[in-house]
Amino acid sequence: MEVNLEVPSCNPYQQALQNFTAAADVLGLEEDVRAQIREPERVLIVSLPIRMDNGHVRCFTGYRVQHNTSRGPAKGGIRFHPQVTLDEVKALSTWMTWKCAVVNIPYGGGKGGVTCNPKDMSMGEIERMTRRYTHAILPIIGPGQDIPAPDVYTNSQIMAWIMDTYSMTRGYLVTGVVTGKPIGLGGSLGRNEATGRGVFNTIECAATHLRMSLKEAKVVVQGFGNAGSVTAHLLDGAQSDVVAVSDSRGAIYNADGLHIPKLMLHKERTGSVVGFPGSETITQDEMLALPCDILVPAALENMVHAGNAASIKARIVAEAANGPLTPDADAILEEKGVFVIPDILCNAGGVTVSYFEWVQNEQHLMWELQEVNSRLEKVMCKAFAEVLEIKLDRRVSMRTAANILAIRRVVEATRLRGIYP
Ligand code: NAD
Repeated sequence: MEVNLEVPSCNPYQQALQNFTAAADVLGLEEDVRAQIREPERVLIVSLPIRMDNGHVRCFTGYRVQHNTSRGPAKGGIRFHPQVTLDEVKALSTWMTWKCAVVNIPYGGGKGGVTCNPKDMSMGEIERMTRRYTHAILPIIGPGQDIPAPDVYTNSQIMAWIMDTYSMTRGYLVTGVVTGKPIGLGGSLGRNEATGRGVFNTIECAATHLRMSLKEAKVVVQGFGNAGSVTAHLLDGAQSDVVAVSDSRGAIYNADGLHIPKLMLHKERTGSVVGFPGSETITQDEMLALPCDILVPAALENMVHAGNAASIKARIVAEAANGPLTPDADAILEEKGVFVIPDILCNAGGVTVSYFEWVQNEQHLMWELQEVNSRLEKVMCKAFAEVLEIKLDRRVSMRTAANILAIRRVVEATRLRGIYP
């Protein structure tokens, strides 16, 4: 397949290529090696005719991209969203390669998506689309080939349908074909909280490095979904003061700290953090400019940009979201001396516990929650220490250091394997 290298500016794939080039330059990587690992190994585009509830047929477009499988099967989520494009899926699959390599789990990077709006679809339509999509990508997925997981607007129920569709074609139950499954179908304890817990682990490591106490540290969390709310809850438990949080409907603030368990209940009841008793409503940009020690962007891509980065006062920015800083914002924060924990390290807890889920499935084991969490902490802290060592040694940002560590591991595997035929 002809791969289009021309990408419009400000698209995530261009960002992924820029990050790669920055790290490859520091490593002095030769062009022939760069060429082998820069582009996705495999891109599958599928057309999905679905019978809608009104009797008409709609054709959706789906993608599965395997960026690199030199270190193991491709691993990465499936996104159902109206803005899914091939470039977005390629970028996300590239980040997955580096993410798995940073935490040193034996996976490559993959990602999938269907351009659709599940909010406008019935459960039946989503199930039929999921099963047809699974069938269409079936030749390239499997426990040893490519293992999908949930991403934006996909969940454990959708993983159960993928697993069932795959298993029906094999004639027996294959739990290891996806992760993020319901606990009753081979899911792992701790998977749901894993991303936020991993974010918290890396914040603890950063605070120790900066000789900063988490006790009474002021925290701001942008995005109070899965990753953001778990991170806020764990920081609250470490006696930090979470003074402001936001979601898509707005931001709230209390200088003395928000009561996080009550806020989680409020969000569950009302669907938003806005209107939480005892809080003041502020704008998203006012929230980013608040005096604080730790900022956790846990919403979407490019939320921190040239227009608001200069106002940030935090000492630590922990990227729970994928790509929350534009390259401009990244440069502004670097200049200000802010300690940025990059996404491929910071939010790797999710894929790490996905790996634990797959290991349990493949060995027919069921680990206790405490075992999952302590293994996760070990993986996150080791990766943090390795990235920090490269940062200090090479005098580069944590982002470039994380990319260097990841690229080095992928290059080593690529060289050892050689070129077939
Ligand atoms: P989620 O849907 O549970 O939460 C997203 C939150 O962001 C919601 O509270 C939403 O209201 C909020 N939000 C959306 N638009 C916003 C805006 N304009 N301003 C402020 N808040 C806004 O999703 P999640 O799983 O928590 O994922 C969040 C980020 O973390 C994404 O970038 C995702 O790729 C990344 N991530 C998640 C996982 C995981 O396992 N959940 C793993 C790795 C990375």
